[in-house]
Amino acid sequence: MRTVLAGDLGGTKCRFALVGEDFSVHSVQHVPTVRERAPFLQALEQSVARILASLPKGCEPPTAAGFGTAGVIPKDGRSIDRAPNLPLDGFPLAKFVEDRFGLPTTLLNDGRASAWGEFLRGHAAGRDPLLCLFFGTGIGIGLIHDGRPLAGGTNAAGEIGHTTFRPGGRRCPCGGLGHFEAYCGGRAITERAAELLGKAPAGTWTVGDVVAASRAGSALQTIAQSLLDEAADAACTLVENACTLLNPSAVVLGGGVLSGWPELTARIETHVRSHTSHAIHDRLQFAPTLGGSDAILWGAAASTEALWPRRR
Ligand SMILES: [Zn+2]
Repeated sequence: MRTVLAGDLGGTKCRFALVGEDFSVHSVQHVPTVRERAPFLQALEQSVARILASLPKGCEPPTAAGFGTAGVIPKDGRSIDRAPNLPLDGFPLAKFVEDRFGLPTTLLNDGRASAWGEFLRGHAAGRDPLLCLFFGTGIGIGLIHDGRPLAGGTNAAGEIGHTTFRPGGRRCPCGGLGHFEAYCGGRAITERAAELLGKAPAGTWTVGDVVAASRAGSALQTIAQSLLDEAADAACTLVENACTLLNPSAVVLGGGVLSGWPELTARIETHVRSHTSHAIHDRLQFAPTLGGSDAILWGAAASTEALWPRRR
């Protein structure tokens, strides 16, 4: 079976594997993400070397490598810019992998890689255009159009979390004011909880803790509820705006905020169906994410164009 080497470079952990042409995932290597560049690259190199040293039965050696990564990827797909949680700012990672392993290498933003994986194998596979929104620590987005992720003029399309929800409002992690992410990103929700609700039940607030605090019987119920109402307003408006702008065939929703607060998913869908035109919502499908990291690995593998012909 033909294979490619795929990687998921995240802010807390990295995962490397062989992806087969039947979408099977083999020889998975996990490493925690370290903050210094030299040990990070050493761990990457060792993980890839281990995978290449003992190929599973039936797997051919990989012919290319694709990595989904946090951060912004310049249009040439050779390096990573502005990845606050990876020690690779400006580093020519594609060349590094090519020099060491002789595999042509592509880099792809992880939101786009996830969306591509969802498009290939997820609950809304083949629905085009496919809009994927991940409410995690920040807000990740991927739009598949014509079988591929929409990149934009400088490979920066889709950052709808950094458009404005409340002009002049709360400071966003990006430095801007009033962005959607400052209201419905996971980091924003938990930071707000620490400001308004005081000490967390287990030391650090999670979205699930805030949801529990908003339930009847909690002394913090009213404050937690109003915090979540504002976060829900932001999330619902964001998906409504994205649907009206992009007219997707299906929307995949996922991320840690929705796992900790499952009711929000239905609230978003109800809002979108009642606040968009018939042309937008009549045939619109909502689907949950596959979750996990395999979607990123599939998307990263797809970006190499070594395994799967383009679907039309
Ligand atoms: Zn922002």
